[in-house]
Amino acid sequence: MRRPKGDHILLRNWHGKLISYVLPLTVIEDEPDFSALYLAAGTPIKQRMMPDGTPLDRSLSYAERSAVPIKVGDGTWAENSVLMLTKPGEAHSFWAFWRDADWEFLGWYVNLQAPLERTSLGFDSSDHVLDITVDTDGSWAWKDEDEFEDARKVGRFTDDEADEILAEAERAASKIRNRGWPLGSAWEEWRPEMEWTLPEMPEGWNRV
Ligand code: MG
Repeated sequence: MRRPKGDHILLRNWHGKLISYVLPLTVIEDEPDFSALYLAAGTPIKQRMMPDGTPLDRSLSYAERSAVPIKVGDGTWAENSVLMLTKPGEAHSFWAFWRDADWEFLGWYVNLQAPLERTSLGFDSSDHVLDITVDTDGSWAWKDEDEFEDARKVGRFTDDEADEILAEAERAASKIRNRGWPLGSAWEEWRPEMEWTLPEMPEGWNRV
């Protein structure tokens, strides 16, 4: 079911049978060949954390972090507002970032992920660990290549899956090298409509 503009939905990110994070989003466009989903600064989210509620220790290696018990608890999406542009079937999404305080455009983040899967709550996906950051001047860099290699080593991805993720990453990188859509498009000047309220975290956010 396509969602009308302004609807509040959930983007849930799964790691196997466990939820990694849940982001309440506002639908900007939900077309058969394209979706634009808005994550507003200040939105309540669910995210992975240590059992005592402290943030995950990013200094631990991927394997170490995978071995510690974690829980999914309450957080807030702070500082930046994000618009996620995704084409169905593609295993990456272009995320435009703005600093919330003054809506200065900060650049793009390409999230490698499983293609969005429609659910009764919104969309489900899972993260492919590797990412790309693109600066406002067009310069770009791989992010978390080492984590991706670690994830591969601990068996999060099969060799075939890892190869497919790398091929998708290369397709995304070639769009960036060519300054292809959505880089430099009108989406970089996008602004939310004033009357929109922050989405809330509904009951049943972890429903399967
Ligand atoms: Mg990612």
